[in-house]
Amino acid sequence: MKYGILGDIHGNLSALEEVLRCMDLEGIDRLLSVGDVIGYGAAPRECIRHLQERSAHVVLGNHDAACIDRLDVTTFNNYARAAVLWTKGVLTREDRAWIGKLPMTVHLEHCSVAHGTLHKPELYDYIQSTTDADPSLDEMPLPVCFVGHSHVPVALLRLREDPTRTYYTKEPVIDTEEAYRALVNVGSVGQPRDEDPRAAYAIFDTEAGHVRIQRVEYDIQREMRRIREAGLPEMLAARLEWGV
Ligand code: ZN
Repeated sequence: MKYGILGDIHGNLSALEEVLRCMDLEGIDRLLSVGDVIGYGAAPRECIRHLQERSAHVVLGNHDAACIDRLDVTTFNNYARAAVLWTKGVLTREDRAWIGKLPMTVHLEHCSVAHGTLHKPELYDYIQSTTDADPSLDEMPLPVCFVGHSHVPVALLRLREDPTRTYYTKEPVIDTEEAYRALVNVGSVGQPRDEDPRAAYAIFDTEAGHVRIQRVEYDIQREMRRIREAGLPEMLAARLEWGV
């Protein structure tokens, strides 16, 4: 089985379409999304449509929740808040209903999916260290779990040879045979923040026994124009080019 995993798309249609094109070439059996399909970018409805058409398994991100008034935006920065307001103005009732039905976590045959953490997904905490990861690793019902939220690809691992220790790695290929537990942040399709502006996504090949984090260039200028034409804050266009 080959899973394609999309992290934080954030309404960036050019990035999503390029990633889906790569996944089609690869031959994906199932499409997963760790949430934050919308918010920040100027094509939220088009991104939702792509996931619906491909029957993707999607969890509810904090920006998705904010756009249907399920989460208070007082903790959001000004740009994020402006984007939530704008996005709320373009979503239809059907879009809101679809978002409203997204679960906090998904458990499939080989892996689980959550947005921030697996152990308390409704808090939308970030996993940036082994200490942050431990409670989720403890509660994983399956050997592999995908998350997003920080927009930085990284994996937290417990190896079969010593399952008591948690490792942090930025290696783009994770051997799932060696791992007793693998908690993988797949990075962001639509707004990478690791100073690499290329879209990030992951492929989990259960037969080969690995997860690969891939990067692909897309038409950033086109997406920057779309954001400017929508009247969204200039910062949201500029940051795509910087990868922050
Ligand atoms: Zn996000």
